[in-house]
Amino acid sequence: MKLLLNKNETPSGQWKYTEPSTGVFFKTYAWDQMIDMVRKHKKGNQIEMPPDWVESLENEVCHQNPHLDCFDPEKVKSSCDLSLTVLRRFLATMWHWLKGGGNLVDQSLAESRADICASCPNNKHVHLCFACKGLTGIVRELKGERGTKRDPELNSCSSCCCVLQVKVHIPLEAMDDPSIEYPSWCWMNKEKESDQESSPSEVVG
Ligand code: SF4
Repeated sequence: MKLLLNKNETPSGQWKYTEPSTGVFFKTYAWDQMIDMVRKHKKGNQIEMPPDWVESLENEVCHQNPHLDCFDPEKVKSSCDLSLTVLRRFLATMWHWLKGGGNLVDQSLAESRADICASCPNNKHVHLCFACKGLTGIVRELKGERGTKRDPELNSCSSCCCVLQVKVHIPLEAMDDPSIEYPSWCWMNKEKESDQESSPSEVVG
């Protein structure tokens, strides 16, 4: 089962769907409008509509439009249960960050990262180990008043277990852990790719 990552923005080429049982093609700018049109079509043609038909529609749209960002909810982790691993990773990040001068990224970069995290399925309430909570508190102090417009929507990243209100301000270089797999739409991957093509991300003191 695949679900759409972002239903609030019109994808390039609009939302498109072909009803497999009738071959009728739908195209709209708004996802809600797509749901309405398909609902009416299914009812009008007496096509079975189980309670999870909207999720099934998303799944079908993902398969019919491979260019869309979709995710498998089964594969999204819900907890950071390896406390020692998380703690080690946290300490490594802090060491790299402080060694690099303890700088924060430019505010506009933090905002664009936060926009992506806010709509990411890996943005979750996760259990953090006791020591990690304490260290996160220290980093919150170090980042001071810095925040983003999306802070109320940010929790923790279930890929790396980082607290997102902090993570979006830290330079990429300090967080580069090749053992962590981030989803394709994650800004970590996008920044790593552009870093390989050009220079390291811009930082401010
Ligand atoms: S850091 Fe990447 S994987 Fe984690 S919540 Fe943000 S966008 Fe998602």
